[in-house]
Amino acid sequence: MITIALTKGRILRETLPLLAKIGIEPDEDISTSRKLMFATSRDDVRLLVLRGVDVPTYVQFGAADLGVAGKDTLMEHGGNGYYEPLDLRISRCRLMTAGIVGARRPTGRIRVATKYLNVARRYYAECGRQADVIKLYGAMELAPLVALCDEIVDIVDTGNTLKANGLAPREAIADISSRLIVNKGALKIKHASIQPLINQLSAVVQQGSG
Ligand code: AMP
Repeated sequence: MITIALTKGRILRETLPLLAKIGIEPDEDISTSRKLMFATSRDDVRLLVLRGVDVPTYVQFGAADLGVAGKDTLMEHGGNGYYEPLDLRISRCRLMTAGIVGARRPTGRIRVATKYLNVARRYYAECGRQADVIKLYGAMELAPLVALCDEIVDIVDTGNTLKANGLAPREAIADISSRLIVNKGALKIKHASIQPLINQLSAVVQQGSG
């Protein structure tokens, strides 16, 4: 059995068509089901539907052999216990700093709100800037408006969410897309079934961008 952990939401919607192209389709409609585990059109493949932040953890500990998660999530997680063999080139966006339009940055310590605690700490340290990083779980765009912070670190696609809240992007930290990850042990032990799956997905991604 091969277990694939998927990230629910936008990434799931963009992953399912890729899996369908290699003959893996859930046996019921994931979007209307309350189930978290799905059998598929392939007897030896099952799907888990998780919050993105949990995908690398399931794969790291081998509860899932493969996973699909955003690069932002993988950067935050740290990347232990799994390989990242394939960029699926879906759910593209950018990880950015942002602040109130026209606002001056403080010259000394800056206060930053984000759900990407590790990424933000690393980024400001690399820039040589002193930063106090505060963990938030959502609605980052609100934080600068109520002076919880000077700046946020968040993912930006069209920039509409920032704009709607009077914020503007400042610096790009990383280009983001969803990645296929694979448990290191599983790739060794189940190589004969997992490697062809990676190759097939890779071919589908190449076709899509060709
Ligand atoms: P936008 O208004 O298009 O810049 O999108 C901003 C918001 O959409 C972000 O705060 C995220 O919550 C969400 N978002 C954008 N791109 C992605 C993505 N690739 N994966 C997950 N969420 C995203």
